[in-house]
Amino acid sequence: MTASTSEIRIPDFVGGEKKNLIGGAWVPAASGKTIDVVNPATGQAVAAIAAGGADDVDRAVKAARAAFEGEWSTWTPHERRKLILRVHDIVLENFEELAAVETLDMGAPLARTRGLKEWTSQVLQFYATQTGLAGSAAPAQNSLPGDFLSLKYLAPVGVVGGVIPWNGPLIGLWWIFGPALATGCTAVLKPAEDASLSVLRVAELMQEAGVPDGVVNVVTGYGAEAGAALAAHDDVDRIAFTGSVGTAQEIVKASAGNLKRLQLELGGKSPDIVFADADLDKAVPGAAMGVFTNSGQVCVAGTRILVERSIHDEFVRRLGEFAKTVRVGDGLDPDSQLGPLISARQLDRVLEYIDIGSGEAELVSGGGRLGGDKADGYYVEPTVFANADNDMRIAREEIFGPVATVIPFDTVEEAIAIANDTQYGLAGGVWTQNVGTAHKVSQALRAGTIWVNCYGVLDPSIGFGGTKRSGYGWKGGREHVEGYLYPKAVYLNLD
Ligand code: NAP
Ligand code: MG
Repeated sequence: MTASTSEIRIPDFVGGEKKNLIGGAWVPAASGKTIDVVNPATGQAVAAIAAGGADDVDRAVKAARAAFEGEWSTWTPHERRKLILRVHDIVLENFEELAAVETLDMGAPLARTRGLKEWTSQVLQFYATQTGLAGSAAPAQNSLPGDFLSLKYLAPVGVVGGVIPWNGPLIGLWWIFGPALATGCTAVLKPAEDASLSVLRVAELMQEAGVPDGVVNVVTGYGAEAGAALAAHDDVDRIAFTGSVGTAQEIVKASAGNLKRLQLELGGKSPDIVFADADLDKAVPGAAMGVFTNSGQVCVAGTRILVERSIHDEFVRRLGEFAKTVRVGDGLDPDSQLGPLISARQLDRVLEYIDIGSGEAELVSGGGRLGGDKADGYYVEPTVFANADNDMRIAREEIFGPVATVIPFDTVEEAIAIANDTQYGLAGGVWTQNVGTAHKVSQALRAGTIWVNCYGVLDPSIGFGGTKRSGYGWKGGREHVEGYLYPKAVYLNLD
């Protein structure tokens, strides 16, 4: 583990009791209840958030509805673009603070949270380019007899409810707020109770940037209370959800009342396929960090590493060596590459899977809690299992921890078959120097994103999404913005 954290200043924002942002006002939960905010590097509470429930969600949805129908609806695309760029500037000016808040709240090292600055800039600039879509009319080819002008507009859907997980709130919040601001929708966001602080700080900064009251609302609280209330609320037009399959199934049911539009970004067990002709100097660290990044708490993590049998042993040896060099420690230490897992619950879950894996496959590296049972933080060693089979539980179930499962294969066809033998379809990787193999495998994988000789890069102007049980809907890119709009036909009789 890495050690010193002394030179990092703890932001003043971390501490005390945080409130919800509803209609431009910061208010406690109607129940008066709070939830402790725990720093996973120490297991200590560092602040408290409001335990919002159905009453708070209802107030926030009313505020969002009023804003949607009020002055915000008169803002021009140009005004919304300028607003997004002001949000961009303020958020970037305060990014050092935001990175530290995120690190303290959910554990990811500063090396990662600081690194999100450039991506945040790109994502906000992308949404700033998209403000012209809402209200735009596509020239429709008129095939009606008579003298008609037929127009097809794109109109904002209304109030969007966002529900995001704890593994990257500083990423997830822009997938809700970005398209809302771009299209003239309004939003109520329910962050994960394990990681809400950075979202609350961003909401303050958005107020400073001039986002009108009610356009952006944040209600913190438990998923089963605040999240479920948002998913069931009759005046929410769309739910944008990121999280697990089980919660998505609850949301689908809860959304039936008013037939909400849904966007569901769920889990994965993504294959990362390494062919014998791959450049192993790139493939070993690339595939390793494809699993270990953010301590494996990444939806697109390439957790099943499929390796051509002729290089399996060499690859595994090098992967194991690499895993031992990864620096795990308090996220506030700038030298840490990986931080702790989010919570004691997640630690138990990952250690249980490591136990299961030890009975199924060959443990090559890692396999334990760092610092032992007496450690304060929730640290797990980067772990590698080899000679695994795709039927094993560690190859089928999403672990959401730094655990790589290496599976050997013999032919391109077999690699494709193993890769697609999963209930998920979020992402996949291919490492080869043969362009034909790269192309063939990319085409054959049933997943929303394929990386060739790289892993995990994400261009906000292209976006990403899943198929199968990884969900539906697309985040980023033009399709994402269109999801916040509905088509509307207007026929003008010119006679
Ligand atoms: P989760 O339990 O589904 O939680 C996600 C969010 O849903 C949290 O805000 C949670 O609130 C809330 N929630 C829980 N129950 C709810 C309900 N009945 N109704 C409405 N909302 C509810 O997922 P997680 O375990 O925190 O996150 C890990 C999962 O997210 C993994 O499966 C991962 O693959 C997936 N993920 C997917 C993507 C992607 O883009 N595809 C990105 C990141 C993560 P509380 O936590 O406060 O209870
Ligand atoms: Mg926390």
